[in-house]
Amino acid sequence: MTPGTGSPGAVVDVSNVCWSEHLPPLGRHFPLLRRLFLVLDAWREQYGAGAPLGLVADDSLLRSLLPEDSRRLRQLQREAGAKGAREVRFVPHADPEFLRLARERGWYVVSADQFVDLRRSEPWIEQQPERFLSWSTDVGSKAGHARVRLRPSGIQAVPAHKVSQAIEYKELKHVQRLDPKNREHVRILRSHWRCTARGCDKAMRWPDRLLDWPSVSRSGRAVCDCGALLEELGPRGVTRMFVVSDAMAADLPGGLSAGEFMRFPVSLGDAVQLGRGTLSHGINLGADELRPPLGVKRVSRTHLTVSLEDSSGNPQVYAVDLGSGNGTVLLRGGSTVERRLEPGERVAFGEKDRLVLGGTVTLRISGQRHFTGEQASLPELGGSGGGSTLLS
Ligand SMILES: [Zn+2]
Repeated sequence: MTPGTGSPGAVVDVSNVCWSEHLPPLGRHFPLLRRLFLVLDAWREQYGAGAPLGLVADDSLLRSLLPEDSRRLRQLQREAGAKGAREVRFVPHADPEFLRLARERGWYVVSADQFVDLRRSEPWIEQQPERFLSWSTDVGSKAGHARVRLRPSGIQAVPAHKVSQAIEYKELKHVQRLDPKNREHVRILRSHWRCTARGCDKAMRWPDRLLDWPSVSRSGRAVCDCGALLEELGPRGVTRMFVVSDAMAADLPGGLSAGEFMRFPVSLGDAVQLGRGTLSHGINLGADELRPPLGVKRVSRTHLTVSLEDSSGNPQVYAVDLGSGNGTVLLRGGSTVERRLEPGERVAFGEKDRLVLGGTVTLRISGQRHFTGEQASLPELGGSGGGSTLLS
């Protein structure tokens, strides 16, 4: 296409790009700004340097990014205003905003998101799927040389009836009840999983991999909530398990939490957002299936990010409040002194500490060690012994 002669523009879903595991560094669930520049380069190469661009990001992205990336993104916004070449907007909830811009201007949307929850309010998504561009990365022969290409994101109509539930929920064991002596169960805990079933909510929300735990069939296989068998993606590496519970419920002896309604894993190098509603980079604590406490409504749509990062050779958990409406409070181990996190403040977080979101939901790191010896060093998981699991 020729620049400057009415080339179509594009609106870029900046959060979605920065979080994409299909852009280098591949497979890492952590928001990185350099992914945006790779996508912008690909856009200019394929659609011309003159094709206009609008960048729209959630406010929460600025707080999820590492500080240097956040500064650079703000700088990009200032430069865009000065040069007028492209616009950069930050809004509380980006999806409806850039879909509206793209609809009004007849532009492309650059996002790997499937926008399942917005299909009704924006019916053109299914009518014009060619206007939705995602990306792929060709790693190539030269080491370190990755080539990013834009391509149709493959929007498909959402079937009126969802995939039938092949396996009843009640037959499934949830991860809390997994048997650490069972070889298949241990493998489930130590792997990444993906659902590829058409029409599955989770497959559309998390096309790269599940961010929560799979369920387990009676025969010990990893199963999605939609009933489909999951595809195994490979080992998780160093992983910490997080426990979410009702802050109003009392603690039980032995480090257990009453009112627990959710467990999820985070692996080294990854970050996961916690919030309420459909979150493509995170976990919906308000999902009906979890039976969350009523107070979960005080949790913001994008409330908190937790990440597991390398700190001088040791895995360290960090938490960042994303500017939540009702705030996040940190309780250091054993202490009753509460400290409210500043929006965007990164705090190191340990096994004895607790975070309380919106005054109603408690987050802690599980003491359970399904990942002892940091499994990379384990040659092969035996039926017993080698892959030992300590419950403490
Ligand atoms: Zn599924």
